[in-house]
Amino acid sequence: MGARNGQQFIDGLKARPREVWINGERIEDVTTHPAFSRIVAQLARLYDAQCDPATQDKLTYIVPETGERAGMAFMPAKDAGDLRRRRDAFYHWASMNFGLMGRSPDFLNTSLLAFAEASEVFGRGGQRFADNIVNYYKYIRDNDLFLSHALLAPQNDRTKSSAEQQNLHMRVVRETEEGIYVSGARMVATLGAVADEMLMYCLPGIPESDADHALAFAVKVSDPGVRQICREPYTLDGQRSDFDHPLSNNFEENDSLLIFDDVFVPWERVFMYRDVALNNALYTETALRNYTAHQTNTRALVKMQFAVGVAMAVARSIGADKFLHVQRMLGEALNSVEFLKSGLVRSEVECEATGHGTVRPALAPLQALRTFLPAAYPKVVEIIQTVAAGGFMMMPSGADFTVPELSEDTSLYYQGAGGMSSLDRVRLFKMAWDLAGEAFGTRLLQYERYYAGDPVRTTASNYLQVKDEEMMRLVNEALALAGDPEPAPRASAK
Ligand SMILES: Cc1cc2nc3c(=O)[nH]c(=O)nc-3n(C[C@H](O)[C@H](O)[C@H](O)COP(=O)(O)OP(=O)(O)OC[C@H]3O[C@@H](n4cnc5c(N)ncnc54)[C@H](O)[C@@H]3O)c2cc1C
Repeated sequence: MGARNGQQFIDGLKARPREVWINGERIEDVTTHPAFSRIVAQLARLYDAQCDPATQDKLTYIVPETGERAGMAFMPAKDAGDLRRRRDAFYHWASMNFGLMGRSPDFLNTSLLAFAEASEVFGRGGQRFADNIVNYYKYIRDNDLFLSHALLAPQNDRTKSSAEQQNLHMRVVRETEEGIYVSGARMVATLGAVADEMLMYCLPGIPESDADHALAFAVKVSDPGVRQICREPYTLDGQRSDFDHPLSNNFEENDSLLIFDDVFVPWERVFMYRDVALNNALYTETALRNYTAHQTNTRALVKMQFAVGVAMAVARSIGADKFLHVQRMLGEALNSVEFLKSGLVRSEVECEATGHGTVRPALAPLQALRTFLPAAYPKVVEIIQTVAAGGFMMMPSGADFTVPELSEDTSLYYQGAGGMSSLDRVRLFKMAWDLAGEAFGTRLLQYERYYAGDPVRTTASNYLQVKDEEMMRLVNEALALAGDPEPAPRASAK
């Protein structure tokens, strides 16, 4: 089939009825339900761009073995130039949603490429698992399917292993000649309700006792026994005006708890089976983090530029950008944009050979950015809140501008600095509040904090996996200046 367009994506969702619950209701059709119709339309725009002659060369490549186009995220890179092509594609899709869609399809497509390139790692459990992951990569690439994932055991008691809470967490419950059966829950599947398939694997660091949980496999979202309970939606199409909520109305990515109720997974879709050692090696021995961080940091660059742009526009709209402390805050926020740009380029220039005739972006600068963003993005949100201050609370609804009795007031009292009209200022502040104040904006912040794992432990791993030769060389060279202790020189010796 090759790269799909938006209608093909929507038709695919309709063709796969799934069990999705939201607000106490089982959804008939996710493509038309008000909790999902707008985000489905946004995803369809991304797919359409892949088929648009103006952008298809940027967003897709021709797969040599099929002659068909596939999304750029599936393309193995031969050199730094190819990594740049991949980044340009990520950037283009992200800029279509201001970087606010964390789980656009390219995110997990990069994971699958990383796994397929390192198929020998999966092969440690048996050659069939290596073959399965490569075949699955080709299947998703060639059918251009949209993946979601849920990597974590649900938050129940974090002091206990999954084995100690075995009735709760997703695990294998039996195996047959044909495949395995899995039951239990996983958290959280962003956009799981509108995905085609779930790619299941697990974060590293699980204990030996959790072998039943050390699985990697794929299921269709529509497979019998796969159930999703979505969190409360922050917006429903048609309930709130676009003027008041331009971002949340369009880019709300719902998240769900994913439940497996005795779900059958055929062996061809199993990539790792009851293998704790392999599970714990998956992040370090495949280029999973390199590839996903290249995509997510590119997406985060777009989001950071957007958020800093909003902060500057808000400051300018009330003349606050003339104050020194505001300039300093904005200057600091601009540093984040530059760090992101620089780290991405360095990851490409210093790319590493994979051993398969391809290269992957260097990990260290990407991990530095990944662990920088959980603090840097909330800081920018805080700047928007600090600069806009009480201005957020004096904003009317867009509907107030349509009331003739209020027209004199609405055009007079909301105007901004430098002749900015009331309408323009209110439009800006409503958008800024969507980003920095609404439940939607708070989730976006929570996303940057946590999407790549617990920032405490991921940042600690920067230290635990440090390549410190040069740092220690400098320290040791300076220590050599000190030499060995000698008796203090005597004043009388002169
Ligand atoms: C908006 C959003 C979208 C997401 N989307 C996805 C998705 O699509 N797919 C997916 O798989 N995941 C997704 N996640 C989940 C994300 O991977 C997790 O939130 C993240 O890994 C942290 O895990 P947790 O939330 O269970 O926190 P926990 O691990 O429960 O941590 C809670 C607190 O306890 C502390 N803590 C817990 N355990 C330890 C420990 N052993 N040592 C030290 N401190 C500890 C943490 O530091 C933290 O302060 C998403 C998260 C968010 C917020």
